[in-house]
Amino acid sequence: PAALTADPQGVATHCPYCALQCGMWIRSTEHGVEISGRDFPTNRGQLCRKGWTAGELLDSAERLRIPLVRDSREEALRPATWDDALDRIADAFTGLQRAYGNDAVAIFGGGGLTNETAYLLGKFARVALKTRMIDYNGRFCMSAAATAMRKAFGLDRGLPFPLDDIAGTDLLILAGVNTAETMPVLVRHLDELRASGGRIVVIDPRRTPTAALADVVVQPVPGTDVALAYGLLFGAIRAGLTDGEFIAERTVGFADVRATAMGYWPERVELLTGVSVAQLDELIHELALARTTILLTGRGVEQQVHGSAAVLAYINLMLALGRIGRPYCGYGSVTGQGNGQGGREHGQKADQLPGYRRIDDPEARAHVAQVWGIAPGDLPGPGVDAVTLLTDPDTDVHGMLVIGSNPVVSAPNAQLAEKRLRSLDFLAVVDIVLSETAELADVVLPTTQWAEETGTMTNLEGRVLLRQKALDPPAGVLTDIEILHQLARRLGHASGFPTDSRQVFDELRQASRGGVADYSGIDYERIAAENGIFWPCSEPAGIGSPRLFLAGFATPDGRARFVDVAADLDADCPDAAFPFYLTTGRLMDHYQSGAQTRRIASLRRASPEPFAEVHTATARSLGISDGERVRIVTRQGSVILPARLTTTIREDTIFVPFHWGGSGRANTVTTNAVDSTCGMPAFKLTAARVEAVRE
Ligand code: SF4
Repeated sequence: PAALTADPQGVATHCPYCALQCGMWIRSTEHGVEISGRDFPTNRGQLCRKGWTAGELLDSAERLRIPLVRDSREEALRPATWDDALDRIADAFTGLQRAYGNDAVAIFGGGGLTNETAYLLGKFARVALKTRMIDYNGRFCMSAAATAMRKAFGLDRGLPFPLDDIAGTDLLILAGVNTAETMPVLVRHLDELRASGGRIVVIDPRRTPTAALADVVVQPVPGTDVALAYGLLFGAIRAGLTDGEFIAERTVGFADVRATAMGYWPERVELLTGVSVAQLDELIHELALARTTILLTGRGVEQQVHGSAAVLAYINLMLALGRIGRPYCGYGSVTGQGNGQGGREHGQKADQLPGYRRIDDPEARAHVAQVWGIAPGDLPGPGVDAVTLLTDPDTDVHGMLVIGSNPVVSAPNAQLAEKRLRSLDFLAVVDIVLSETAELADVVLPTTQWAEETGTMTNLEGRVLLRQKALDPPAGVLTDIEILHQLARRLGHASGFPTDSRQVFDELRQASRGGVADYSGIDYERIAAENGIFWPCSEPAGIGSPRLFLAGFATPDGRARFVDVAADLDADCPDAAFPFYLTTGRLMDHYQSGAQTRRIASLRRASPEPFAEVHTATARSLGISDGERVRIVTRQGSVILPARLTTTIREDTIFVPFHWGGSGRANTVTTNAVDSTCGMPAFKLTAARVEAVRE
């Protein structure tokens, strides 16, 4: 592909993968695409090996370059013209909506799409299709933390402070965060913290590579974070560490939480969590030594049936210590997907409209309807969450458009999701490769990759950044927003769906004006000039709002809320038949469902296949040796994987990475139980048994 700049370093852009959105240069040479690290606040020129190799997929033989269609489910996908493929989608959706109503057609989006695509997708669903049925895979990542932060602070932004604050805090607590593998460049900030004398605590049932950087590591029983957080609050109260002035002046609701915490004395917490009284003392000692503290949660804490409660319990602890809303202090959630933050702000979620507004808020509906040129009454109401959309046969959905997501691999209880997708009358998929989900589709549309289109992303700090187009796409491949334009036109909307990303962003700015995530003061030029702009930003000057909550929280009275949560047991508890905790997670070499990274040779070589991590003592008791095939059996089904023996995991816990489909698909066996407050699936806790496979 031809490069689009004369700058010898190439085009300034960002990595296609995780929410750190490292800055990179990309240029085209006679040897192919070259990528180098660019000085940007999140990465200071560093990239991880996923970033270094991101260019390989651009000219991969495996990428899709032409639409595919099939005439019946018995036939194979075959090449087609764009007109044929787009007409088939429009005709099928129109027919299904005529037969079954507007909600017969659903949209399933992704947290890696640009802000422009996420925005236009929400508008496409509600204006062109007039359906309530839209949700996205970010539901699997951020919904628990987002719900908790909105309850406690009135606003949800992954990190309400810049990433650089991490290096300046006295104590960093990482709960269920394995950044050394999932976001390796973030380790730079941890190294700076350690160099300046700061300390690190890691809370995780596995002693991950991140734990190697920590001063204190505790490995609780999976799913016991609420009890652990209450136990720490008990210890903090007893040690006199709570900040009475902060609690009185800046919060509401401490009395109830304090009363609940007093029921979590150390011996009880040891019984519930497996964290010993001595370790609890050690953690309280760390809190006592520190003047400033940042506590971050990741999917380890959040992907539980009580994920939002666990986040709230940790927020309660930080509020009681008065370590929120001050520099180098705070609670944050480490977003996973590249645009996990922006992806949830512009209307791709079943319950939200652009500006991170609630779809059931009459004022929000009136504002967005006016921007979209429709009557508020014509704006559909809230739809259903991602897991319901993907697995529940009782919804009215008969057709679906999946874009930027591979739920056949990534959905919980994926057998159920796959069965549901196969049962649809019509499935269309927009993707860059023939993913496991695309293989099931009636129509597959190829789309451009990250380096071939201009658009904005919002990283884990709430920093809106610009991914510039660096290369021309293969001839005939359209961008996501060009595809939405073409489909909208066929559905009778000749205008309202621009193909120019800047035009879409300008409309997004208007739609977000006055909302929680206000982008109205942000434009492409200022993003490029300022190394990104933090939302909310309503003024066309400055860098937006890097640190939130310094003067007050985003609640009506400006005070944070303590929320008295319960430490209920998980839905899928181990028992005699399924005695182990199965937990899933990520590896350094792969990203999400692996649709991209499994197609990059060096990453595939480094991590070629899934495995089941089993403690050596557990393996000995079950007669399993290293590398031997084991069957993981749960109430959902079974999967056979090679065992990888280790002493770094709890003896009662099994870990499986989730980046593969087919026979190695971890989500074949995960529960589809969700956190009822937000729809977050409980990927981190499924009751399981393990057997050697000897036939
Ligand atoms: Fe890309 Fe994340 Fe690696 Fe940075 S840390 S290079 S954003 S995958």
